Amino acid sequence: MKRGHVETSMQEKLDQLIEEHRHWTKKGAVATYIPELSKQDPDLLGISICEVDGTQWQAGDWQAPFTIQSISKVAYFTCVLLDNDFEELTKKISVSPTADGFNSIVNLETKNEHKPLNAMINSGAIAGISLVKGATIEDKFQRIFRMICDMAGNEALKVNEAVYLSEKRTGDRNRALAYFMKGTGIITVDVEELLDAYFRLCSIEVNCRDIAIMAATLANEGVSPVTGKTLFDPKTARIVKGVMTTCGLYDGSGEFAVDVGMPGKSGVGGGIMTVSPRLLGIGVMGPALDAKGNSLGGWKLLQSLSEEWDLNIF
Ligand code: GLN
Repeated sequence: MKRGHVETSMQEKLDQLIEEHRHWTKKGAVATYIPELSKQDPDLLGISICEVDGTQWQAGDWQAPFTIQSISKVAYFTCVLLDNDFEELTKKISVSPTADGFNSIVNLETKNEHKPLNAMINSGAIAGISLVKGATIEDKFQRIFRMICDMAGNEALKVNEAVYLSEKRTGDRNRALAYFMKGTGIITVDVEELLDAYFRLCSIEVNCRDIAIMAATLANEGVSPVTGKTLFDPKTARIVKGVMTTCGLYDGSGEFAVDVGMPGKSGVGGGIMTVSPRLLGIGVMGPALDAKGNSLGGWKLLQSLSEEWDLNIF
């Protein structure tokens, strides 16, 4: 942190914040619609921070593994932007916010020439994977998987097989979205193969540090603060952060902008990442979710940090 805090007080502060916010985990509930996620420990709460110079801070249950879920959508969207002309892309996926849940079907039929509203909700993410470069869907999966490993600066990431199989078995809502989009021509590839890639990407196991480094890579405009690799350009980073700001917490994005005021992305595994442009990335985890599928403890923790350290970009 470059806001006048000495290192010991930073660690003490984070430890203290975790303990002060743990009670929020009691007010949320773990996701159950993916049966394997219902086995998560609802009491966990952790945080990692990665500054753009690579300095890292961690507290609480930051080492606890969880599945990345919708946070992976940031990486699909990054690849989609790198691999497609932006004007052409917006004919298939908009950059508009939504007032409906992350797996809502209604807008696909009633709005927007049947286009998904944005790439941070399930419909836009599933369509997005199909638009990533690659001769086969497996190639598209590998390209996005590589981007997630590179953004996290972690070569050891892998898919949690139990969560993947659980999602694949129960993901009928996502099947409905994908088949509808195949019907309207937004998707032109094999739906089951595409969904298989989506379920695997959602089931990648990460911890708070992985998502903090991913966020810090966006804060650092595409250059990894831990490996120094240039992964994407500042313009791509800007578009991703813009869509995260308006759509990253689904129908909770408005409240998150008011409460926290940073580009963010959540997942039903309990993770939330936020980006402080040119300063740092934060990764929090707390599997107890609010009604919209966002980590309740994580949200409250970010809200306090944002207020205390003046991280609200607005
Ligand atoms: N895999 C989850 C799903 O498709 C991702 C949703 C989320 O994290 N909000 O429902």
